[in-house]
Amino acid sequence: MPIATTNPATGQVLKSYDPMSAEQIDAAIERADLAYRQLRGTTIPQRERWLTAAADLLEAERDETARLMTTEMGKTYAAAKAEVTKCATACRFYAAKAAEFLADEPADATAVKATRAFVRYQPIGPVLAVMPWNFPLWQVMRFAAPALMAGNTGLLKHASNVPQTALLLEDLFRRAGFPEGAFTTLLVGSAEVDRVLSDPRVRAATLTGSEGAGRSIAQIAGRELKKTVLELGGSDPFVVMPSADLDRAAEVATTARCQNNGQSCIAAKRFIVHADVFDAFAEKFAAHMSALRVGDPMDPDTDVGPLASEGGRDEIHAQVRDAVDRGATVLCGGEPPAGPGWFYPPTVVTDLRPEMRMWSEEVFGPVAGLYRVSSYDEAIEVANGTSFGLGSNAWTRDPEEQERFATDLDAGNVFVNGMTTSYPELPFGGVKNSGYGRELSALGMREFCNTKTVWVGEGAATAGAGAHAE
Ligand code: NAP
Repeated sequence: MPIATTNPATGQVLKSYDPMSAEQIDAAIERADLAYRQLRGTTIPQRERWLTAAADLLEAERDETARLMTTEMGKTYAAAKAEVTKCATACRFYAAKAAEFLADEPADATAVKATRAFVRYQPIGPVLAVMPWNFPLWQVMRFAAPALMAGNTGLLKHASNVPQTALLLEDLFRRAGFPEGAFTTLLVGSAEVDRVLSDPRVRAATLTGSEGAGRSIAQIAGRELKKTVLELGGSDPFVVMPSADLDRAAEVATTARCQNNGQSCIAAKRFIVHADVFDAFAEKFAAHMSALRVGDPMDPDTDVGPLASEGGRDEIHAQVRDAVDRGATVLCGGEPPAGPGWFYPPTVVTDLRPEMRMWSEEVFGPVAGLYRVSSYDEAIEVANGTSFGLGSNAWTRDPEEQERFATDLDAGNVFVNGMTTSYPELPFGGVKNSGYGRELSALGMREFCNTKTVWVGEGAATAGAGAHAE
């Protein structure tokens, strides 16, 4: 895949880059390793100042950064601006919370026959981050902000279609004051991931991307005995039960499916509706989906911009055609418009069957599958009946049902009467083929820490755990 910016709204190639040579990659890893030795010796207040400076820069330069993201991958300008703001919020969150998340945790010294015992969180070294294009700033920031605050350094291999955003991120952390090499962008294709992760100086990897990329990186990491966090695909269920507020559910369902032009891992993709309210929901949902305006992502009136690549658009159209050829019904959309740009209309498909691709595959665009079920148990069976387990949504006003959904949905999160969203305060990640490990919250920061047990016997000074905060 060429490393290039191609505007998805026009199909025009705007800027191309030569991939880095083996020598350049090696030099970047060396800088990351040296920066790690420097960074781990800095204090939390120092790193807090740098990360806060990064937040200030993001906010000051929000509009230019957002324009660049829209140009590189087609999200609406409004969505891109919101993404920049969210990144600044995450930087401020981790800057403020690092001392608490990294503080020594006291243990019961008597039980382990010590005078003092505690857990200390320490950085582990350069971490490779392989990232996708769909939230080109946010996906990187939710790794980088906690990792840098913990004292690790980052090596970013971003998706090949967002090289300018990747370079912007390196520049951002440098200008914010982090040491040279603390955060480096590697302009390389996916074939170079093996070389980087095999290098003994690189201690771990995080990947956000497809299941195939996850398997590939997990294999390399397994061979090299390195820790990985994998945030992979999803086909999130959105269950609507008879007691739900149907108007609100249909409105939120539309946003949940079409946010980011339908290209979100946590977009609701399968709408599983109880038969008692199926027809009413289907009518409202299809009406909202049809009313969305598709077009130029820079236009403030546009709801849905183009898909990020021609291949991505072809793929979802093939999934829709496969369903239709096997007997599914299209309630709205289903035909890409003529003309330049990789646009696809918001589409609702129903009468789906297990032999259709849409039943089991992730659909990465504004296409919703609508399923009719006749009971709570059947809703759970369909919702959990995929290999994925990232997010899940349940709409019901029955408190008992809310509790049951929270337990029974097999996913990394359950949002009741709402749509899945990520917050710095809450852990984020999946189960099954959606990956493992968690980002965000204290858990995300500690994924790339050495959780060190410290046991001190007789002759210890009296200072207790909690004195240390690196
Ligand atoms: P992708 O093709 O897997 O690409 C993601 C990143 O992995 C890119 O940097 C890509 O590099 C690299 N890559 C691809 N194949 C690789 C391999 N075999 N070995 C090493 N690296 C490899 O995914 P995408 O199409 O960009 O993104 C969409 C997918 O990401 C969807 O499945 C979506 O659900 C998932 N996603 C998950 C989350 C989450 O938090 N769970 C969030 C967002 C997206 P190149 O660009 O150079 O190919």
